Amino acid sequence: MPVNSSGQERQSYGTVFYWHPTVRQHATGQRPGGPIEIDTMSNKPTTDTEKNTEQSFDVTIIGGGMVGLTAAIGLAQSGFNVAVVERAPKGDLTAAEYDGRSSALAFANCRMLEALGIWRHMEQYAQPINEIRVSDGPSLLHLHFDHKALGEGPLGNMVENRHTRIALFERLNELKNIQLFLGNDIESLERTAEKTVVSLASGTEITSKLLLGTDGRNSMVRRSANIPVSVFDYKQYGIVCSIEHEIGHEGIAHERFLPAGPFAILPLTGNRSSLVWTEKAHLVNTIMALPERSFAAEIQRRTGDFLGKIKPVGGRWAYPLSLQYADAYTDTRMAILGDAAHGIHPIAGQGLNLGLRDVAALIEVITDSARVGLDIGSEQVLDGYAGWRHADNAALISVTDLLNRLFSNDVAPIRAARDIGLAVVNEIPPLKNFFMSHARGTVGELPKLLRGEAL
Ligand SMILES: Cc1cc2nc3c(=O)[nH]c(=O)nc-3n(C[C@H](O)[C@H](O)[C@H](O)COP(=O)(O)OP(=O)(O)OC[C@H]3O[C@@H](n4cnc5c(N)ncnc54)[C@H](O)[C@@H]3O)c2cc1C
Repeated sequence: MPVNSSGQERQSYGTVFYWHPTVRQHATGQRPGGPIEIDTMSNKPTTDTEKNTEQSFDVTIIGGGMVGLTAAIGLAQSGFNVAVVERAPKGDLTAAEYDGRSSALAFANCRMLEALGIWRHMEQYAQPINEIRVSDGPSLLHLHFDHKALGEGPLGNMVENRHTRIALFERLNELKNIQLFLGNDIESLERTAEKTVVSLASGTEITSKLLLGTDGRNSMVRRSANIPVSVFDYKQYGIVCSIEHEIGHEGIAHERFLPAGPFAILPLTGNRSSLVWTEKAHLVNTIMALPERSFAAEIQRRTGDFLGKIKPVGGRWAYPLSLQYADAYTDTRMAILGDAAHGIHPIAGQGLNLGLRDVAALIEVITDSARVGLDIGSEQVLDGYAGWRHADNAALISVTDLLNRLFSNDVAPIRAARDIGLAVVNEIPPLKNFFMSHARGTVGELPKLLRGEAL
């Protein structure tokens, strides 16, 4: 395990780099005592006693991240019996050190979380985003989005991922038709024209009509179908931490384009903000190992003094940044959603938002299909999902990639051109409103859940 210059431990969470001045141990991977299954119907952990059982569901979801758990809740609310298989135990998924990120959730996605009964469990941790200010280094030309221009609620909300994960588990506990298989490794995945079979290392065999892969960028479900994936390594990391500050943020999110890449200051509840500091890969180890005072000084240099004196709180995380997209979203009795289908740069805070849009579209397609008696795992049904989401995702994937390439460099003519671009957008209200509607997630052919409607 690597140790930093002050003798403090740095820990690796898969490909994510995590460092905390005080935490010395994480509960990560398997815990002693073997796999744990939590039965949400009884709310009791069930252990080896349920080995070698065969259980049948409508849908099996592999991956209990934010996308997978939201899908499970939405499907259960539509009346389907759902199994969720997740390799991490619940204690890890909801631990403060598991995921240091906070997400900017677009207005339409918050509406969906409300329709699914999740929002009420997380609302108290949500900080409305009223304005977004975009600036290019020291340039005075900038772009300013204010929710008042559209005359409807905030542009979105910032919520720490940990609170979202806890809210998802709280909502799961209220639903009868979901079973979680947490802390479980998968031994094999099998899909035939009739059914899908997932065999767990604990001996349980899960059969269903449809398999969903919400198992992140390195998706086992996607790989099992040999779906090709295009990957581009940005050779950048997103360093993430929270700060406390003297002066209030007034619900304003700031995106600054610095030579190494975007530096985002995103408002959290209270006098706190979440930072996403994009940095060149070769500098990340040094920054992650900086003593607290030097780390704080580097942040203060980048934020300036509009928030007064800042102080980093909690740990630091560094996420490798890359673009990846799968060629297909479906295969026999299978669909992939969220990062398993598309992973993008966090420059516009849209990765999770896209994943939740996948969820809303899929639930609508299969709920409507089941109502008219169609097989929810059939090609005809799954094509409806893939066609809908491919077009929507492709546009945003291209835009975020272009933005990062355009703004992560310091070439004078490019800088001049992009500054003029920012100023032009700022002065043309219809163009500005168009971008704001995108940030709110209210553009395109919206599934009912994103319109806040029941299915
Ligand atoms: C620095 C940074 C900032 C970001 N900020 C924002 C933002 O502001 N707004 C936004 O919308 N998005 C943001 N994103 C993107 C967002 O975090 C991701 O898009 C989102 O977390 C993807 O969720 P997911 O559930 O699809 O995948 P994951 O979060 O990767 O979840 C996958 C789950 O599957 C499990 N799993 C994997 N393999 C297996 C297996 N074989 N068996 C069982 N379980 C398995 C994993 O343990 C995990 O729990 C950001 C990303 C970064 C890096």
